[in-house]
Amino acid sequence: PHLSAILVGADGASETYVASKIKNCKEVGFESSLFRFPDTVTEAELLDKINSINNDSSIDGLLVQLPLPKHISVQRITETISPEKDVDGFHPLNQGRMVQNLPCYLPATPYGIMLMLEHEGITTAGKHCVVIGRSNIVGMPMSILMSRNADPGNATVTLCHSRSTDLSAITRTADILIAAIGKPRFVTSDMVKEGAVVIDVGIIRIEDSSTKSGYRITGDVDFENVAPKCSYISPVPGGVGLMTIVGLLKNTLRAAKGEVKFSF
Ligand code: NAP
Repeated sequence: PHLSAILVGADGASETYVASKIKNCKEVGFESSLFRFPDTVTEAELLDKINSINNDSSIDGLLVQLPLPKHISVQRITETISPEKDVDGFHPLNQGRMVQNLPCYLPATPYGIMLMLEHEGITTAGKHCVVIGRSNIVGMPMSILMSRNADPGNATVTLCHSRSTDLSAITRTADILIAAIGKPRFVTSDMVKEGAVVIDVGIIRIEDSSTKSGYRITGDVDFENVAPKCSYISPVPGGVGLMTIVGLLKNTLRAAKGEVKFSF
């Protein structure tokens, strides 16, 4: 399997994510290639590169690391990637098939979370799952996957966002709480039911002069105070971030096998 990544600009977090994806490819024996562009690249230049990778039969999967500079349309970029090489699972055709439970590439982060639930043997059927966040790449697909007639899945799902009222009252009813917000330690212990499963998707860099890099990574959950109440909790770092890479690599392997076909 051969995964290609496109990286625009020199954002520290994006550099780290792409570097670890490339490193993980090596570890599992996949080929990888990285195409770098300055943040002054035009949208047309990026689209050209994507089209040439789409037509390159030696490359199985392609991801464009987000975020992109403001002058580039994420939607146009996402829709230009061939859905058969869309191993991040962001293309509307893959997301549409996901909704209908048809063969597709699942978005890597929600896919990784489903694999984590499966691996830990956590029962989801009949449980109340509360997802905080409704982005196209995490919260929205997460809510769909948890409500699908599948295992894991079959949960009763509530999707919350910044306009939800009395969030704590909702989250306290969650058997499974998935936080994908991007706000450090947003989920506090009073928001969590005793025995709940808590999955922290957030990755936030906060300044910390005591570290060599000058920052540290934290999640959306106040881990130290929430953990004692939970039956399971995923840490940050070392939880969903790693599983996202697993989802990406599994999608790349499936792409190399040609498992998802679109005929049009
Ligand atoms: P996003 O597009 O910014 O979405 C954040 C969501 O949180 C939005 O739906 C927003 O609601 C909601 N929200 C914000 N403030 C809220 C509040 N006070 N109460 C309730 N909901 C609130 O972010 P994202 O791309 O989904 O990412 C979320 C976090 O996950 C980030 O920290 C990101 O770095 C991390 N992430 C991690 C991985 C991984 O591999 N672990 C992968 C992707 C993302 P509205 O829709 O109403 O604005």
